[in-house]
Amino acid sequence: MVIDGAGGASSVEPLIIDATRFARDTSKLAGELPLARLPRLGDVLFDRAGAVRYAVEGYMSALGRPALRFDLTADLALRCQRCLERLPLHLNLRREFVLVGQAEDLDCAGDEDENVDAITGAESLDLHDLVEQEIVLSLPMAPCHAEDTCRLQPAPAKLERGASPFSALAGPKAESDENPPAPATGLD
Ligand SMILES: [Zn+2]
Repeated sequence: MVIDGAGGASSVEPLIIDATRFARDTSKLAGELPLARLPRLGDVLFDRAGAVRYAVEGYMSALGRPALRFDLTADLALRCQRCLERLPLHLNLRREFVLVGQAEDLDCAGDEDENVDAITGAESLDLHDLVEQEIVLSLPMAPCHAEDTCRLQPAPAKLERGASPFSALAGPKAESDENPPAPATGLD
């Protein structure tokens, strides 16, 4: 199923399923959600082109509980927190959820595989909302280009006299912003 991207709506319409029945029937469903229709992503995106592709499959867990398996893929354009330019991010996620009837049953779901989360309200579950939520939760807190590809290089403090030449080769993956970009003065 493909949601009609025309019309300019700012949010996507709900897609409600009876998740317990969906699981028991081992149903499958796949579709696409335009990024432009996912308002909770708006703040972090550099642009809103593209779509999230999802596939959801119902099954019964090893302990006999109804469960859902999600596969999500998306090519997002985030904003680098250092240079504020476009930062492509390919997402490919798998999420599994056990369906529980009551909030107090959430503890029991701990018996399941540790990679499996539990959700309540399974009689009327909004698939689109869940897809949006999982994408939001998977995003890095402070996305940045790798240091050797970012247009703004970090301040050269790490290369000061005495620093090991190899320290500069250490991974650029740090998400902390210990060297926020200085205001651009005198640059052309
Ligand atoms: Zn950057």
